[in-house]
Order: sequence, then structure tokens, then C-alpha cells
Amino acid sequence: MNATIHLLAGKEKSLKRLHPWVFSGAIGKVKGNPQSGDTVAVHSADGDWLGYAAWSPQSQIRARIWSFQQNDSIDAAFFLARISAAKALRDSLSIASDAYRLVAAESDQLPGVTIDKYDQWLVCQLLSAGAERWRDAIVAALRELYPDCAIFERSDVDVRKKEGLPPVVQLLHDNGSGLPPATLWIEENGLQLGVDLQQGHKTGYYLDQRDSRQAMRRYSAGKRVLNAFSYTGGFGLYAAAAGASEVVNLDVSAPALAQAADNHERNGFATEQLTNMQLDVFEALRKFHHQGERFDVIVLDPPKFVDSKANLMNACRGYKDINRLAVMLLKPGGTLLTFSCSGLLSGELFQKVVADACLDAKRPMHIIEHLFQSADHPVRTNFPESLYLKGYVLRG
Ligand code: SAH
Repeated sequence: MNATIHLLAGKEKSLKRLHPWVFSGAIGKVKGNPQSGDTVAVHSADGDWLGYAAWSPQSQIRARIWSFQQNDSIDAAFFLARISAAKALRDSLSIASDAYRLVAAESDQLPGVTIDKYDQWLVCQLLSAGAERWRDAIVAALRELYPDCAIFERSDVDVRKKEGLPPVVQLLHDNGSGLPPATLWIEENGLQLGVDLQQGHKTGYYLDQRDSRQAMRRYSAGKRVLNAFSYTGGFGLYAAAAGASEVVNLDVSAPALAQAADNHERNGFATEQLTNMQLDVFEALRKFHHQGERFDVIVLDPPKFVDSKANLMNACRGYKDINRLAVMLLKPGGTLLTFSCSGLLSGELFQKVVADACLDAKRPMHIIEHLFQSADHPVRTNFPESLYLKGYVLRG
């Protein structure tokens, strides 16, 4: 028998709009003794049934809704159905890559569950108590839908701490290949990219920027390109493919830059075209400025600067700083592709920060393109938090 939680009066409003999170402060009574990850029935103060949720006793997000349908049962068949639906969406998208996000957590109505598909490898991140509880069902569903694929878990992510869960990295299903290779080659928009599923960032690669990397081709022919926060050089590789005269990748990670060099070579691009610099971007942009370096095209794709509402303003100063410096480094008529993957920073505020950066650089520009996370990272209408990655292309 499921445990039941009753919300305080008025706290059912967001759930009635199908938003899947129940915060600790919304909870009135807990009946039964749910354990971490157990399924609970959520009721309003008036006793209306609202949804089935996973119980997260240690998290401020105390319960996450699996289903708003009372006749659902949360079991292995439920996970198979949800993952099948996620697969059907991806299969319909004509994604020009053999690597993409198969399951995007709340956007696929599977809070805490992220699954990326890299060719024959499925890489899972189980980030909530509920996801942890249903690991076996998730693996069974993946094996049924993708009988030839190996399944690897990369739950070595800080947010698990908030759920009281330890980091986990393990092979969940061996298809005969053993552990993932040190470098798995994938093809994205016709380019070869090496990915390290065991040690790479996230599940190995920034799949969410695929469409924006493709957009990069439009701006790069014959240009001198600076790719700041390059990771394994994705944006730079597309620039090289489009005929950039020079590509400079900047990152603090030595393994990422080594992979960037391998990627460039693997695609048959000229060695002289590429320079990799292991430097802090904040310092490097200042140094370039003092040296009088100028670029035709600059990409700024920093990591998430905003990790809590408390540091939003501080993070905005960081975004403004790098954008101001980048604008100052642009040749006249140059192009800046600037991104923020901080979900807590709205597109509106990000645009304001970029506008302020242009103003401080005494160089108002045109926004000529808006960019977002790729379609395999869909935004669920009742979960606006799922829109986290936004970018602008500026010219001037
Ligand atoms: N544009 C990349 C993804 C960038 S992710 C792609 O398309 O794949 C952000 C990168 O910023 C990471 O590789 C990280 O190593 C790097 N990074 C973080 N802080 C940095 C800093 N201060 N200076 C330089 N690189 C930094």
C-alpha cells in the first residue's frame, strides 16, 4: 500500500498545472512511513488525489511526480512506456548524429532520469531517490528497446548529494564490449568526434549544443575564430569544416584540448589551422586585449555560473565580464556567439547582461540569431525550468 502525503491548503496549485515538484514546505501530513525512493500518493489538503510521486526524504524537492494519472501504476511497465515514448520522440526528430539525449528527465516525465545514447552505448544518470529506486526497471526497459546496446551509469554528479545518494559509476549491462573505450568515435553533422564516456564531462559530450555548433558553420568561412570554453573543440571543429582561416580553442582542461587536437586531425583538417591554449578564459581574454589580438568570430560557451538564486547577481557579473571582453576583441563587423546554460538565469536577464556588456565596451551590436538547446533536450510546457540553454549571435 502506498504511503500518502497531504499538502497544506493552497499548495496544490502548481501540481494542478502539472508541474512535477513538491517542495518540503508544501507538505502538511505524511501517512505511512515512506522510504527513500518509494512511491507516494499526493493529495491536496481537501483530499483530492493529485499524482503519484517518488519520495526524496533528504531533498528540498521532497517528492517528484511520476504520473498525474490515477489509473497508472508505477512499475516496470510504466518505465518501459515512458522510455518508449521518449524514444518515439527522438526517432521522429531526424537527429543528424549518432549521439543524442534519449531521456531528458522532467521533460520526458521521468524526473531524475537522464539517458544519453552514443552509438551502441546508453549512458544513464540517475539523480533522484526515485530514479535510484527504479534502476533495475530502467535497465530492463533499455535492454528491451535496445537489445544490442551496452548500458553504462555515470551518476557521479554533485546533485545526488542533495538526495543523500553516493556517486556511482558502473557498467549496468555488458553487450560483450566490456567497459566503454577510452575514446568512442561518434559522427555529428558529418564530423567525427571522440568522446570519453568514462571520464568526460556530463555523460561524455555536450549534446545540447549540437544545433548551435551547426549554426557556427554559417559564420566561419575564411574567418579567424576564437572558441572560448572549447571543451573538446566542438565549435572550433565546425568552424574548421566551414573553412575558417584559423581556430583558437581555449579551455582549462588538458584532456579536453588533447581530444580537440585529435578531432581536428581525424577529420583531415590542416594542423596549422588549429591552436589549442590551456588557459583560464577570464585571464586569456584580458591578455589578448593587451596584446592587441583581434578575432572575426568569438564563441563564449561557459559552464553553468549560476548554481543557486543566491549567486545570480555574482554570476551575472561573470557573464558581463567575459562578454564585454569578447566584444572588445572582435574586429569591426565581427560575430559573437554567446551562451548561458544557467537555468536560473532567464533569457531576458541574459539578454540584458549581454546588452550591458556591449554598452560597457562602447559597442552596441545587432542580435541576428537566437539559439537554444537542441530538440532532443525538449522543453516541457508545464516545466519551464527545462529551458536552460540560450544563446545569441551578435554582429557589429
Ligand atoms: N562548447 C563546448 C562545451 C563547453 S563546456 C562544446 O560544444 O562541447 C564548458 C568548458 O569550460 C569545459 O570544458 C570546462 O573545462 C571549461 N572551463 C570552465 N571554466 C573555465 C575557465 N575559467 N577558463 C577556461 N575554461 C573553463
